[in-house]
Order: sequence, then structure tokens, then C-alpha cells
Amino acid sequence: MQSVPPLRDRHDVLVVGAGPAGIAAAIHLHRRGIKVTVVDKASFPRDKCCGDGLTTGALRLLDELNFEPTTVARWTECHDVVLRSPTGKLVQLQLPEGTGQFAAIAPRKELDTSLVKHARQLGIDVIERVSFERILGYDNGNVQVMLDPLGERTFSWIVAADGMWSAVRKSLGANLPDYLGDWHAFRQYATNVTGPAKEKLFVWFDEDLLPGYAWSFPIQGGRANVGFGILRGSKSSPAEMKSQWQSLLQRPHVRAALGDSAEMVDRVTAWPIPARVTSATLSAPGVVFIGDAACVTDSLTGEGIGQALLSGKLAAEAIACTPLGDLLSAGKHYEQSIRKEFFADHRMSVVLGKILAYPIGARGALRAVNLTDWTRRNFVRWMFEDEPRSIITTPSRWHRKFLKRPGAYASRRSAYRDSANRDMV
Ligand SMILES: Cc1cc2nc3c(=O)[nH]c(=O)nc-3n(C[C@H](O)[C@H](O)[C@H](O)COP(=O)(O)OP(=O)(O)OC[C@H]3O[C@@H](n4cnc5c(N)ncnc54)[C@H](O)[C@@H]3O)c2cc1C
Repeated sequence: MQSVPPLRDRHDVLVVGAGPAGIAAAIHLHRRGIKVTVVDKASFPRDKCCGDGLTTGALRLLDELNFEPTTVARWTECHDVVLRSPTGKLVQLQLPEGTGQFAAIAPRKELDTSLVKHARQLGIDVIERVSFERILGYDNGNVQVMLDPLGERTFSWIVAADGMWSAVRKSLGANLPDYLGDWHAFRQYATNVTGPAKEKLFVWFDEDLLPGYAWSFPIQGGRANVGFGILRGSKSSPAEMKSQWQSLLQRPHVRAALGDSAEMVDRVTAWPIPARVTSATLSAPGVVFIGDAACVTDSLTGEGIGQALLSGKLAAEAIACTPLGDLLSAGKHYEQSIRKEFFADHRMSVVLGKILAYPIGARGALRAVNLTDWTRRNFVRWMFEDEPRSIITTPSRWHRKFLKRPGAYASRRSAYRDSANRDMV
């Protein structure tokens, strides 16, 4: 059992933002005996515009947090995946069954609220309706911040998990001029879904969306999360996307998947997706950026929950091995880990995105996926981040169980959980 230093010698960390990135960082810090406070300007339950899809990578990281899926209302495990090529050809894929979870849909309103509850049950202070305003300065190796309505506070480190429009980044003057995200995506919920989209996850590569795509992700109770995302600067502007959204919902293949009685409910929401980790600001003195605030989403798919959870874990590890008062080392350590974990995958996603940008590329890619049982079986696992995007080109990450590991939550007492429990304070 590791000995825990007395409180006065320990870091006192502020996490700004209680989304998946912030909660993951807070739990990993807490496990290492570090005092951590999380603030969020919202009050939970709060919605987040998202597809609600959890990849194998994201599920493994949630498992590692000892997070329990049964605490999330309408958590939906999914095995069947249908891809539609620009020509209209359907490719049916299946994730493994009976060996843990490889893909799930968890409405963010419920997922994020359960994550906050989980952190609180572990003893972490999560304070709602408190907004980070600005960094006031540095004092004796600490960072002074202004929180509304708490006022001036001092911490040894700030973890900025405050999303795409990071107020921490802005207060450091590190915003990129005119940066509005790399993707822009729309989402709405459907109810009374009776077609195959009731159980199957659909991804539609319609020609006018490439290299973007539209999706329908099934949710328990005949619901689905339906949406589409496009690369900024590609064919449609976000304003044109509004009318594109209406036309998309009327397309015969979308109607056929959802079923005749499906109705769109709640309001349609849109939000940018930041996906440029290789050029993002990752740290500043006394500050590390994680999740959307560090632009870590996958530039091929726009998925960012797994990436948010992983960057939160890496930030906690970096802070835990830095002496108090050292405002730079954790940032350097963290940047190295981010480079190792994300950069090769980002570059691979950019290359694949360029192939998918053209109908001929998207058609060819889907034809290759559909060649044999082997390609179908393994592509779907790779697509759901069972292995890193660039696994082929990064031998340091090769392992004997390549695409053969069980999914997340395969056993209640996984190796992950045992080591996590040992770390607990
Ligand atoms: C339409 C759409 C579909 C998507 N679909 C998927 C998908 O299916 N799967 C997937 O993995 N990813 C998906 N993503 C990406 C995913 O939603 C994000 O990458 C993920 O939410 C990032 O998590 P985060 O914790 O970094 O940030 P967020 O989830 O954005 O959390 C940031 C938190 O910070 C708080 N905050 C902000 N400013 C302040 C402040 N000044 N003070 C205090 N608190 C503050 C906010 O209230 C919020 O709670 C999608 C994104 C979009 C837009």
C-alpha cells in the first residue's frame, strides 16, 4: 500500500468542467491521494449535444473508473452495425457478443449525471453552478483564479476540462483567432422508432456529406439519437446544414431505417467538434487542457468521449508525479503522453478522412470492408476503437491479443479494477 503524504504537502487541484474529461481526471487524481475540487457552470442533469455513442475504447476507460453502466438510465448495448455506401449499398457488421461490451449508447444527460454522482460517492467535491472566470496570476508556485460566485481561490494546478469554448484557454489568451471547430454536427432524438434502427446502429455516407456522415444510434424504448456532422470548410456551411438536416430526415433510406411512425422530438441542437490535437495548446504554467478543451476528438469520426476520458487520466498521471510548486514539469510530462497516445492516431485519421472525402474513396473503403468475414469482423472492432486508429504503424503498441481482447465490463473483477482498487485512498 502506497503511503499518502500529509495534506499540506499535497497538490490541491481545480478541475474546471464536470464532463467526461473532468470527471476522469478528478477520479484518477483522487486515487493518487490528491485533493481535487471540480466546478461546473451548469447544474446536473445537463444535456450535451452529442451522438451518445461509446466506443470500446471509451467503455474500457469507464470500466477502469469502476463506473457502473446500470446507473445510467437507458444505457443501450449495441452489436449490429449497418454502413451505407454513397451508392446505397449496405454493409452489415457485427460486434462480438457475450464477451463484454464493445459499443453502447448512453444519453449524455444521464451519463454525465451518473459520472458526477460516481465521483461524489468516491468523496470528490463537485460544485455545480460555479463558473471559472479568469486566471488572476501566480503566487509562490500556485495559481490564483477567480470563480463566480466563489471569488478568488488558489490551487496548485488547474485542469481545464471546460470543453470546446474553454474559458481557461481564453483567459490565457491561447484561443486561435476565428477558430470554430473542425467539424460541425447536428443531433436530435427520435421516438417511436420501429424500423431496424430500433436495434441497429446506422452510419450513412451520403455523397453530399462526405467526408462527414449521418448516423442513427439506438436507445432503449424505441428511441434513437439521429444526427450528422460535416467538416468545416467542406460542402455546406453550418447555416446550410439547417436545411440539409430537414432534407436528410426525409431521405428514403433514413425513413426506412427509422420506420414510418418515427417522430423527431426535443429540439435539434448543433455544436462544433474540435479535432486538432497536434496543433492545440495542451498546457500552460500551472494548467493542463484535456478533452474538447485540448481538441483531442478523433478527426475521422468526431468521437471524443473516449479521448476525453484518456486525456483526463494522462493529466492526472502527469500532475501526480510533479513536485509541488513546479508549474511547468507536469505540463511537459502531459504533452509527452498526449503525443505518444494521440498524435499518430490523429495523423492516420486525417489521411483516412482524405480518402473518405471522395465518393470513389468512400465506395472503395466500404468495398474493402465487405470483402470477407475476416474484414467485416475486424473492421468493425477497429472502427469502434478496440485498437488505436494507427495500430498498424505504431509497433510499440502491438500486443499478442490484437483484436482478440474481450470488451469492457467482461468481468466484474478485471485486472484494471484490481489495480485501481489498490491505488484507492
Ligand atoms: C453532435 C455531436 C455528436 C457527437 N457524438 C459523439 C459520439 O457519439 N461519441 C463520442 O465519443 N463523442 C461524440 N461527440 C464528441 C463529444 O461530445 C465530446 O468530445 C465530449 O463531450 C468532450 O467531453 P469534455 O468533457 O471534454 O467536454 P464537455 O462534455 O463539453 O464538458 C465540458 C464541461 O465544462 C463546463 N464548463 C464550460 N465552461 C465552463 C466554465 N467557464 N466554468 C465551469 N464549467 C464550465 C460545461 O458546463 C461542461 O459540463 C459528439 C459531438 C457533437 C457536437
